[in-house]
Amino acid sequence: MSTQNIAFIGLGIMGLPMAKNLAAAGFHVTGYNRSPDKAADLAANGGHAAANIAEAVADADVVITMVPDSPDVESVVTGENGVFAHAKDGALWIDNSTIRPDVAVALADEARAAGLRPLDGPVSGGEQGAIDAALSIMVGGEKADFDDAAPVLAAIGKTIVHVGPSGSGQTVKAANQLIVAANIQALSEAVVFLEAYGVDTSAALQVLGGGLAGSKVLDQKGQKILDRNFDPGFRLALHHKDMGIVTAAAREASVVLPLGALVAQLVASTVATGDGALDHSGLFRGVERLSGVSSTTPEPAPAAG
Ligand code: NAP
Repeated sequence: MSTQNIAFIGLGIMGLPMAKNLAAAGFHVTGYNRSPDKAADLAANGGHAAANIAEAVADADVVITMVPDSPDVESVVTGENGVFAHAKDGALWIDNSTIRPDVAVALADEARAAGLRPLDGPVSGGEQGAIDAALSIMVGGEKADFDDAAPVLAAIGKTIVHVGPSGSGQTVKAANQLIVAANIQALSEAVVFLEAYGVDTSAALQVLGGGLAGSKVLDQKGQKILDRNFDPGFRLALHHKDMGIVTAAAREASVVLPLGALVAQLVASTVATGDGALDHSGLFRGVERLSGVSSTTPEPAPAAG
């Protein structure tokens, strides 16, 4: 099957650089975004802009969706104006958004009934990973469809793994978000602790990064926290969504996640106190507030998207 024509729906912080990378890799990429300026940006960078979903998917061999949450994916793929009603028979549909695993399973069934071949393929690696085409992509769906999607996924990611049937990609992503949030919380607590003792935090993070405390979270978020630079990145409001996904899915499976539940509450608190538009490293601000420290933190960034 040809994978030359790609429709890309949702050109936000992640979607736009991913679509640009697909265009740079030689695919014919047609983008659609709710606010049209982002599709114009893609058109100026090797892609094409569509005025609506039907136009974007009409000739697509592969349709990619990258929108914030489960209801957003439902709204772009279902209904008379959605992907399922307008995509070609046999087209691959790859949902790179992070959504509820049960919704991914239901939508995959609906996609198959509409003649499409669905893959849930949430990503990890952040905005930089999207820009660098270095994402980690966890894919659920039929193995044959995964194999057909390989050239497309290789243009946006580096670690690309088929993890099981439809919904499995989202289940793995939920685990990913649990691990990342717990890491950011621990890193934030460590920085507040170090600063209370007047330690040179740059030196401290350098040496911590070389030992067992080292992590990609420390590498990518440590300096942002020291600089109080909480420009997104990955919005804390989206991580709040993801903590809801993992805690609800764990409850469904009768699995207890004590640390996950606590971190979910801490993320919820930081969002509820006005920091949802910040990068998820802004979880640090919630940690500071717990200790009555706030003098060093900036005003929240204006709400995005
Ligand atoms: P984002 O910057 O908010 O982008 C989402 C895009 O989707 C926006 O351009 C938005 O258009 C569009 N959109 C939103 N709702 C829509 C709807 N109902 N119909 C059509 N278009 C809609 O979000 P993001 O950071 O790129 O994240 C996208 C997904 O990737 C999320 O599921 C997130 O959890 C996941 N993710 C993000 C990161 C990260 O570091 N940012 C990393 C891994 C995974 P408008 O311009 O009109 O708002």
